[in-house]
Amino acid sequence: MTKIALVTGANKGIGFETAKQLAQQNIKVLLGARNETEGKKAEGILRDLSLDVTYIKLDISDSTDIENVKNYIEGEHGALDILINNAAVFLDGEWFGNNTETVTLKTLRDTFDINYFGTVELTQALLPAIRKSDAGRIVNVSSVSGSFGVHLDETHWLYALKPYAYSASKTALNQFTVFLANALSDSKIKVNAVNPGWVQTSIGSDQAPLTPAEGAKSGVEMALIDENGPTGTFSQSGEILPW
Ligand code: NDP
Repeated sequence: MTKIALVTGANKGIGFETAKQLAQQNIKVLLGARNETEGKKAEGILRDLSLDVTYIKLDISDSTDIENVKNYIEGEHGALDILINNAAVFLDGEWFGNNTETVTLKTLRDTFDINYFGTVELTQALLPAIRKSDAGRIVNVSSVSGSFGVHLDETHWLYALKPYAYSASKTALNQFTVFLANALSDSKIKVNAVNPGWVQTSIGSDQAPLTPAEGAKSGVEMALIDENGPTGTFSQSGEILPW
């Protein structure tokens, strides 16, 4: 039977490439995007490649959109096999330095509303459909910015980059990954976090070494693991990362 996947923030960047690579595996992909014009444009590009994709309006910070997507998936497909929680924002402004003393509560709240609360709300809403899959997979696209291990390691290249709102939101997402994997340990569902690497996108800038297609690989691989694959891990290209 054809598998169904939902990718959030699939109109561009890593999300778009993730949707493309999953659809190339003969998976039917729902392209979540908050902007209808952008979402339909992405759908058109992938359909021109004969890929089975459908745009679905999804602002992950909008409870009505989440409810509509839940109802659409349950009504149209019954089960959801793969959820890629990719959508995120970077609102700190600067990557370099440490803005912990000055970052505004508005920036923190706006970041958490999308990167953390939106992702948690969407995932909880879709869990009943994911439970109906024979092999549910949840992939949280996180970041090494959220890793305590990296931020405590003075020799790590990312040590000097401490944008607090974005990093803290990804730390919270990592905690969600560990706790959800534990909560679902008696099910067939596997929940993992991945770091895509430093990728040429709006968030990563054009200075980054990896293309969006390369950045999508870690998430796609984790979405395709079999029943012997891991759960509750944080990795990039199969290499375990420190939490
Ligand atoms: P982009 O900015 O290119 O893509 C982000 C995507 O998220 C866009 O499609 C954006 O939509 C969408 N989005 C933002 N807010 C919402 C929302 N409220 N509802 C739905 N969609 C939303 O960045 P990337 O492709 O780089 O980011 C993808 C993921 O990779 C993120 O989770 C990011 O944190 C992570 N990551 C990226 C790295 C990099 O180097 N690029 C490094 C580590 C992690 P819109 O176009 O409407 O803004």
